[in-house]
Amino acid sequence: MRLQHPTTAACDACGDRFLGQNGLNMHKKKAHRHPTTAACDACGDRFLGQNGLNMHKKKAHMVNIYI
Ligand SMILES: [Zn+2]
Ligand SMILES: [Zn+2]
Repeated sequence: MRLQHPTTAACDACGDRFLGQNGLNMHKKKAHRHPTTAACDACGDRFLGQNGLNMHKKKAHMVNIYI
């Protein structure tokens, strides 16, 4: 009798594998705390930090931002 592999889910951030979606979610919460995200007020997309948001705005919405 062979043991069946349980479903594993791979973390897209570090590549580690975990048992099921629950295990993966718990790992992500612990290991990959959400970095600060900033939401674009024009399209609602989220970006990592104010810099990422500013870069997106310049590219996607042609906004000139002076810091
Ligand atoms: Zn991970
Ligand atoms: Zn946007």
